[in-house]
Amino acid sequence: MQFASRLQNCETSAIRELFKLLGKPGIISFAGGFPDPALFDVEGFRAASTDALQQWPGAALQYGATEGFGPLKEQIAILSNNKSAPLAEDDFIVTTGSQQALDLIGKCMISPGDKVIVEGPTFLATIQCFRLYGAEVISAPIDGDGVQVDKLEALIAEHKPKLVYLIPTFGNPSGAMLTLERRKRVLELAAQYQTLVVEDDPYGDLFFDAPPPPSLLALSNDVPGSRDWLAHCGSLSKIMSPGLRLGWLVAPKALLSNAVMCKQFSDANTSTYAQATAAAYLQSNRLPQAVNQVRRVYAERASCMAESLHRELGEAVSFHAPSGGMFFWLRLTGANGGETDAGKFAQRAVEKLVAFVPGAPFFAQQPDPACFRMSFATSDLEKIEEGVRRMGQAL
Ligand code: PMP
Repeated sequence: MQFASRLQNCETSAIRELFKLLGKPGIISFAGGFPDPALFDVEGFRAASTDALQQWPGAALQYGATEGFGPLKEQIAILSNNKSAPLAEDDFIVTTGSQQALDLIGKCMISPGDKVIVEGPTFLATIQCFRLYGAEVISAPIDGDGVQVDKLEALIAEHKPKLVYLIPTFGNPSGAMLTLERRKRVLELAAQYQTLVVEDDPYGDLFFDAPPPPSLLALSNDVPGSRDWLAHCGSLSKIMSPGLRLGWLVAPKALLSNAVMCKQFSDANTSTYAQATAAAYLQSNRLPQAVNQVRRVYAERASCMAESLHRELGEAVSFHAPSGGMFFWLRLTGANGGETDAGKFAQRAVEKLVAFVPGAPFFAQQPDPACFRMSFATSDLEKIEEGVRRMGQAL
């Protein structure tokens, strides 16, 4: 069969190969990127689903507006307003996960050969989605404080990209948090170079101790001209449930109307049943307590993982312990002549029945073979200690 030429820009992810090994009995996996299902508020959703069918029996089961279901949009606006980023109804649309928001941005913005800049490392699905639309994906380096803005500016000036894609808060896979100062600088760059900056923010609510700095969206009101060059992708996946497949896209009006047009041709509307259930859930006001619980559990697991890593792997790895989100991003230092290839380390670790993800695929350019990602979200403290102990043995 002759497939479309755009597929030549894509390859199935190297990570998938590793995931095939995860079925081994007894394996402890830090490889996934899923939230812990034990923390889903099942009772809350059961009630919300009944409530949704009572409040909106027709609308919840009918086709709906491409822009999103009104009562859910009201609730998303409240969530955003609580984080100093007020939204009017026509500032955003509901999407089928934030993943669809990213796809719509790619579809509306990227012509074959266009350049886009992403963080090195960044969310793998975004690299692949932008490549599918023919983008040349350029990597901007990060450190423990997120993207290095001076280098980002140099890359923007050199390549004049169609867009810059960032995960400023608790990045996947980096776990890094962009400082307030750098956030302001990014917005200045957006306005100065008239380059669309896409803020992907699925993890911002999962902070452990103190809240992160305001999102680029919230700060854009203070940086003249930046709002015209900013898109923001939100998601209910990590705070409520990824099974809902609910996210949203805030974008300049012209981009938003093109995104609505493309969405019409794609899924017509995001599941009205899921939207109505989420709206009823948010109305019930159970979310703050549920998210607090997630934060508390993840904070405990992250701190256990940091301690275990220091204890079991010592100088063999370097990392910045994250202050929120779901991930540790580590680098093999090669101390005392040790291993520096995370791919080989991952293979040996699987033999010891522990899994994590080698980091190279997360780089659009210049992969660092010494890096790897670990998630603490789905393992209890005992598993974290035991898994990291096995990693020590494998190393
Ligand atoms: N962006 C990032 C950085 C992610 O990590 C994920 C999910 N792993 C997504 C977007 C997609 O999330 P959603 O479930 O909202 O589509």
